[in-house]
Amino acid sequence: MQLSCPKCHYPLNHPFGLTIVESECSGCFTHREKDTINWNDRYSQLESLVKKYKKHSGKYDCVVPVIGDAEDYFTLFNVLKLGMSPLVVCVNDYFKNDIGWYNLHQLITHFDVDSFTFNPDMRVYKDLVRTSLRKHNHILLPFLQLHTSFPIHVALERKIPLIIWGQNQTVEQVGMYSHLDSVEMSRWNRRQHNLFNFEVDDLIGNGAQVDLRHLNYYQYPEIDKLFRNNVRGIYLSNYMRWDPLAQNQAMVEYGFQPESNNASFDVYERAGSSVYYQLHDLLKYKRVGYRKISDHVAREIRHGRLTSEEGISLITKYTNNKMYIKPFFDWLGVTKSGYDWFKMHRLKDYNHLISESTENIEGLISLYNSLDNMLVKGKEINDSFVVFGKGL
Ligand SMILES: [Zn+2]
Repeated sequence: MQLSCPKCHYPLNHPFGLTIVESECSGCFTHREKDTINWNDRYSQLESLVKKYKKHSGKYDCVVPVIGDAEDYFTLFNVLKLGMSPLVVCVNDYFKNDIGWYNLHQLITHFDVDSFTFNPDMRVYKDLVRTSLRKHNHILLPFLQLHTSFPIHVALERKIPLIIWGQNQTVEQVGMYSHLDSVEMSRWNRRQHNLFNFEVDDLIGNGAQVDLRHLNYYQYPEIDKLFRNNVRGIYLSNYMRWDPLAQNQAMVEYGFQPESNNASFDVYERAGSSVYYQLHDLLKYKRVGYRKISDHVAREIRHGRLTSEEGISLITKYTNNKMYIKPFFDWLGVTKSGYDWFKMHRLKDYNHLISESTENIEGLISLYNSLDNMLVKGKEINDSFVVFGKGL
């Protein structure tokens, strides 16, 4: 059993870094700020901050990076409420299922915003995913590289001075900074936290056989270029009382479609991904020793919707739930023998969590009343790994 916070059970080896202060972790400590901060004041500060950027010069006054998640609905809703004129930018991770594409299209049409989706060169992307899996046990790093850098390139190229993100994970998950620090997006922050200290250079060289000129959008723009063009990125979670489960639940009203998964009770976060609660969760378990359920349990304990005992019980139950990972290897073009080799050598301690079909995967776990009324029934998917979404 690894060391964890006595209150929220978050493991101390969290990749962002977690510290214990007296009898709680830095995440719990910072979370308590939410009950003392004057959020009306913070929102006023946000209003005056964005005011400077409104109708800056061109058609758009901010870039909003999205993947089609419930949080993106909430972020976009608030950006529009602030009176901003956003350009919505999505990077295709090629991992969306039919629900994922539905949610992205619904987001764009419901809020009636201009948007575009960047489809990275598939061969290069798969090469990077393959190398990332081999070297770092991580299949989302190439996407995270693009998701955290492509929108910045767009802002620079189109001279849009502001980028608006939803939550700052380092504050919300591990409490590395106070909300009042108003931490902004930076190359350092991106590298240290979003990318777990990897840059795209770590995925090339003796790894992927990729031509450097294909990697421009994977790399963060030069800092002095951003300064010269006054491009900055802010997080709404520093200015609003952030409560993901409640916020995401409310987004169903705007047509967001939740998806059931058997790795967590949360049907909203990353609904629509073919890998997030499957192989990505298994690799997370292998890398850091805990699964996504621990993130959700810590969050709900802090928000007072789960007791400590309920949290432990949910972590124990979900951590043993099986997953079906073969479709990812098919997507990557790995042969059956390659898949068997990977399971035998790289996942040898985790074979009890791997199912060879969707049939013997345990169903959903019955929940506690405090959570149950926050959750709607998620939809079942029809198609996974839909690489390009259907047009509207
Ligand atoms: Zn804690």
